[in-house]
Amino acid sequence: MFRAKNRRRLRTAALLFAGAGLMILGFLFRPGARASFQPSQRAAHAEVSSTRAEDWEVHKSDAEWRRRLTPQQYRILRQAGTELPFTGALLKTHETGIYKCAGCGLELFSSAAKFDSGTGWPSFWEPLRNDSVVTRADHSLWMARTEVLCRRCGGHLGHVFDDGPKPTGLRYCLNSAALTFEKSAR
Ligand code: FE
Repeated sequence: MFRAKNRRRLRTAALLFAGAGLMILGFLFRPGARASFQPSQRAAHAEVSSTRAEDWEVHKSDAEWRRRLTPQQYRILRQAGTELPFTGALLKTHETGIYKCAGCGLELFSSAAKFDSGTGWPSFWEPLRNDSVVTRADHSLWMARTEVLCRRCGGHLGHVFDDGPKPTGLRYCLNSAALTFEKSAR
């Protein structure tokens, strides 16, 4: 009886430690944790500052977004959340095709610009078109970062950093859950 109780306590303590550990890892390895500088202006995306829903070409009520998206998609796209590294379904996708916005379906990135950044998040060195995405200054979590959003619905995709490969030198660090993938000849 006594032993069983102790075992239960041990198990609870172990679970708590594991949970705390996961949270710390998630914080340390969030997208862009390794870079704290602003990207250069080589990519000519429109810079936005507005957060008003009606400013986006595709805008829906909060209730409608909640209905259309999975809880994880909603947390990332509509609340600027971040998925845990190395957990995204599209991280290791290497097939030829197009990555679209999981919110509105706009074509955003080509597999031709995808690379393995080692960060645990899908990474691209350029969007499909300059006007596929827009950027916004992000000063959350005591960092100066540049947020990347879908140009059409304003869904949060991730951040862009200045430490990417040639030819742009940019790294679009995106949440897998903010994207859908469609195989194509491109
Ligand atoms: Fe979108």
